[in-house]
Amino acid sequence: MRAIVFDSTITFRPRHPEPSAAAGDTLIRVRQAGICATDLEITHGYMGFRGIPGHEFVGEVVTSADRDLIGKRVVGEINVVCGRCDLCLSGLSNHCRNRTVLGILNRDGAFAEYVRLPALNLHVLPDSVDDDAATFVEPLAAAFQVTKQINLDGRKWVTVLGDGRLGLLVAQVLRDANCQVRVIGKHPEKLALCEKWSIRSRPLEDIVPRHDQDVVVDCTGSAEGLTMAIQMVRPRGTVVLKTTTASGAPLNLAPVVIDEINIVGSRCGPFREAIRALAEKRVDVTSLIHRRMKLEQGVEAMALAGRPGVLKVILSCAA
Ligand SMILES: [Zn+2]
Ligand SMILES: [Zn+2]
Repeated sequence: MRAIVFDSTITFRPRHPEPSAAAGDTLIRVRQAGICATDLEITHGYMGFRGIPGHEFVGEVVTSADRDLIGKRVVGEINVVCGRCDLCLSGLSNHCRNRTVLGILNRDGAFAEYVRLPALNLHVLPDSVDDDAATFVEPLAAAFQVTKQINLDGRKWVTVLGDGRLGLLVAQVLRDANCQVRVIGKHPEKLALCEKWSIRSRPLEDIVPRHDQDVVVDCTGSAEGLTMAIQMVRPRGTVVLKTTTASGAPLNLAPVVIDEINIVGSRCGPFREAIRALAEKRVDVTSLIHRRMKLEQGVEAMALAGRPGVLKVILSCAA
């Protein structure tokens, strides 16, 4: 099959082996896949991953142990879990000690013609969620995860730091969670999108951190984001970290102690809620699509997705 493979460098392979049955009981023909910051970090060594990247996809089931799935249009949860460890048994299977993660940890991902996953990981899509919207289910679920982890009652003042792909999803979700949301970013055209969505926004250069936000969600994708977030959050406030980078950065944690700040790491979230929000058109994702490119152009597509200001680049994976 055709695939994008990372193995110290990223290349397009016209004849890569199809995923083996050991990778899951369901074979999916990938229709399209989205490129996200995590994929770009992988090419910089994040998680030491080798193989096919890509974890945001929509496809159709070709073969499956669950016959009802055959021919269905699906998205897939990215954590493949054991179901037996202490974390799985306590309802935290996204943190399974024996997990593999699609395109991120010991499991080939979706920048390919075919991908395999267990049937249990799949969600059948309603017709009201088209392929473009479906490509955003995984990152939108990650945005919803913020609302699961922190208490947002009482019309909290929330700053979303970063106007990139994930920040603009998080901002829309928090707007609908009855928060006073503002987005801080560097790109006028993205801040204009916020205006279209009735979300306040400010350019980064205008910001003087005042230790006055109830919640700051770091979606900068840069190692410096946490430092900035700590300067913006109020004492006893909460910083939610969405950024994953390959490189660390020196960090002064004294303000976390002095201001008694809660720091919450946040990763994968609820697919069902994301699918419902897309079906009900509560979140605008089509405005986030920057360009569509063929799988064959995947290497160029990843370079494009890494340029400042570029939002979602979608890979069309069908032949
Ligand atoms: Zn992603
Ligand atoms: Zn487990």
